[in-house]
Amino acid sequence: MLKTLFPNGLKKAFTLSYDDGCYDDIRLLGMMSSRGIRGTFNISSGITRPEGQEFIGAWERMTPSELENYDREGIEVAVHGVRHRDFTKISESELIYEIMADKSAIERRFSRVIRGAAYPYGSFDDRSVEALRRCGIKYCRTVWSDDSLKMPADWLRLRPSCHHSDPKLGEMTERLLGEDEPERRMLYVWGHTPEFRRDSNWELMERLLDRVAGRKDVWYATNIEICEYELAARALEYSADGGYVFNPTSLEIWLERNGEPMSVKPNETAEAWRE
Ligand SMILES: [Zn+2]
Repeated sequence: MLKTLFPNGLKKAFTLSYDDGCYDDIRLLGMMSSRGIRGTFNISSGITRPEGQEFIGAWERMTPSELENYDREGIEVAVHGVRHRDFTKISESELIYEIMADKSAIERRFSRVIRGAAYPYGSFDDRSVEALRRCGIKYCRTVWSDDSLKMPADWLRLRPSCHHSDPKLGEMTERLLGEDEPERRMLYVWGHTPEFRRDSNWELMERLLDRVAGRKDVWYATNIEICEYELAARALEYSADGGYVFNPTSLEIWLERNGEPMSVKPNETAEAWRE
């Protein structure tokens, strides 16, 4: 098997994941769009600020009409439980409803098929993982920092690199952007935008995005774009002697052959090695 690379042969990826569908997301969305940064917002669609009610607090949600702010290029909207209930503390039928009612409401609102999620309170167990899988969810983010830039092994127990307030963020950002290493790496940062208001540190995010944005060697992607790419890469099929690789998926997959990038287009076969 050949080593997987990101699209266009890249070895670095950057993504964001922000929870709860808060009013302060509007500011982050603007910061991301102006710099070409892509990412994911996890929404509890059953909890919104009443239409016409002015924003006054720190942790208030979007009104239903403000949700249109998420409807833009490079932004994924994902499931966060329709009422933000703890997946490990409700009955199985309530759990399925939390997932499916949120998924369905977001799908109708944004005319998309939603396949991503984040655990409310970061709380999960084997039952919730299985329920998500059965509901067509491909990945679900926890709040347990991986403290690394490694690609996730288990997408339904997805561990972010770190929270934006993690003191290691600066060092991890420099490691992402540093010299090429043999392995691919991804910086995956999560949080809640009202934390920037509470902690008066929006400039922390400004600095991070300024540092990471606009580079030719970084893949900027939403959570689901990265997850779907990884799942497609895992679906590649090799000939018995490993000499050929067939791509049965709908995505062009990039691989490393003899230290050089190559790609296999959808429904095509490529040489994995030559004598
Ligand atoms: Zn939450």
